Amino acid sequence: MTSPGLLSSSFVLHPIKSRKLFLPWNPSLPRPRISLCSAEPNSLRKAASGGGRERRNPMDGGRTRGGGPGGRSPRRSSYGTSRRSSIKKSFAQEQVVFTKPVAEDPVVAIIGGGVAGLVCALTLEERGIRSTVFDTGVHGLGGRMATRVIDPKPLVFDHAAQFLTVSDSRFQKLVDRWFEKGLVREWKGLIVELEAGGHTTLLPYSAKRYVGIKGMRPLMDSIICENNLVNIVRPCWISNLEPFNGTWRLTEREEQHGQFDAIVIAHNGKCANRLLSTSGLPLLTKQMKTLELSSVWALLAAFEDPLPIAENEDFGSFEGAFVKGVQSLSWMANNSSKLFPLDSGIPQCWTFFSTAAYGKQNKVPQENIPNATAEKVKDDILEGVESALGLSQGSLQKPFYTRLQLWGAALPTNTPGVPCIFDPKGRAGICGDWLLGSSVEAAALSGMSLAHHMADYFQTGGTQSDEFAIGLNNSFHAIDGHDIGQFPGLQPEKQSEQQACIAV
Ligand SMILES: Cc1cc2nc3c(=O)[nH]c(=O)nc-3n(C[C@H](O)[C@H](O)[C@H](O)COP(=O)(O)OP(=O)(O)OC[C@H]3O[C@@H](n4cnc5c(N)ncnc54)[C@H](O)[C@@H]3O)c2cc1C
Repeated sequence: MTSPGLLSSSFVLHPIKSRKLFLPWNPSLPRPRISLCSAEPNSLRKAASGGGRERRNPMDGGRTRGGGPGGRSPRRSSYGTSRRSSIKKSFAQEQVVFTKPVAEDPVVAIIGGGVAGLVCALTLEERGIRSTVFDTGVHGLGGRMATRVIDPKPLVFDHAAQFLTVSDSRFQKLVDRWFEKGLVREWKGLIVELEAGGHTTLLPYSAKRYVGIKGMRPLMDSIICENNLVNIVRPCWISNLEPFNGTWRLTEREEQHGQFDAIVIAHNGKCANRLLSTSGLPLLTKQMKTLELSSVWALLAAFEDPLPIAENEDFGSFEGAFVKGVQSLSWMANNSSKLFPLDSGIPQCWTFFSTAAYGKQNKVPQENIPNATAEKVKDDILEGVESALGLSQGSLQKPFYTRLQLWGAALPTNTPGVPCIFDPKGRAGICGDWLLGSSVEAAALSGMSLAHHMADYFQTGGTQSDEFAIGLNNSFHAIDGHDIGQFPGLQPEKQSEQQACIAV
């Protein structure tokens, strides 16, 4: 058990038991090395020379932080740390400063294997830089690009991102690569606005919508499958970041995962706040803590028969609908017709999302959903479907399969409007959808931007620190998107213009 008294030991997260390690390294390349030079984190020289992990905080008048014999025992959270002390530390953290030149062949640790983290790794590779992506995913990479496949039928559901849109030529190139590999196609199915009672309106929609042919997740796997310079470690929950001898040392509970020349935080929410709160990166921590996220319930439901959806005279029945006027429902999509448009007579797999307002009202710990809440939410969403379709209460056929999930950190509701954040003193950056908006495209562009920014920084040897600082003090503004993201054509005009003005 690590002591909460040591700043460097910080908190302990529950690990995922089973472990799988993918190592698509080119064996001819050296493994990430353990560097013993170039470390200059302000407060760590003493610790390093003392041979231990203990750090002293000058703000404490040189006293060792936290407990220890005779010390006060702070109240602990379920993660084995004092919440009060974590919050205090995050605001009073001492900035880590690396002063020695960056290694000639730097290796970057990317924590989070969603779109942003993976595109960051891919772009670093294009710039000749090695990276290791750490991701918690038990079933696969991709984060909110999750696809759930239930055998033996199989039933297939896109679990979060439903489709993607493209407005930027750099993201278009990535989508074109997926096209070439036969992984995406345009979703031509009808998408409408559906009002309670079953009234549908066609969307004034101009942007093309793309979907993964086998769901969204395979797009994520394809990003790294042919790469030599990207190492993937999953499932792995990085629980501690520690500057150590000129590098960042990453650990998952007590297990060390190597040392890296720079780090990328490619996830957000509670977990990122905890990870950063004792990292020695106060500016990154402050920005991450300013981010606000919605919560959305997702219900996956498979029905034997098609749902009774009224046909539009010109366009037939819809495959996806943004729902208005129903509190427990904001989106519904028929995955069977989206993913298997040519197959008939197959089970009807639907993904339903609650509104963010409903998610907020019914929020519980997502890793431990009480049964009573799960039942209530499931009933509310299915009643919402009845109401949206204008069906009488209790007349909707019973699904033969359901699965409920709470996306506790679903979508950002505010953004600093910068492509990425980078702290050159601490050699640490952030990428993610929230920096530019709330969509797959925003996440990918952010990952690309951070990778190029870091590669340029490495080229200078890491000496021109201030010049490379980005996004550390930008203020946030609200995101006016739909509950499941921002799409070209759907957001208010003002915002589209604003987005177009953001140079990435
Ligand atoms: C319900 C819902 C519907 C959506 N629908 C759409 C849509 O139709 N179209 C669209 O464009 N966008 C949609 N979005 C948004 C889109 O999914 C996201 O913008 C995008 O996937 C975010 O990617 P990301 O890489 O920034 O983050 P994430 O996908 O969240 O990736 C972060 C990854 O980091 C991992 N991680 C977290 N902590 C750690 C740790 N300590 N150690 C290691 N790994 C860690 C997580 O497990 C995760 O895999 C939707 C989102 C939701 C929730």
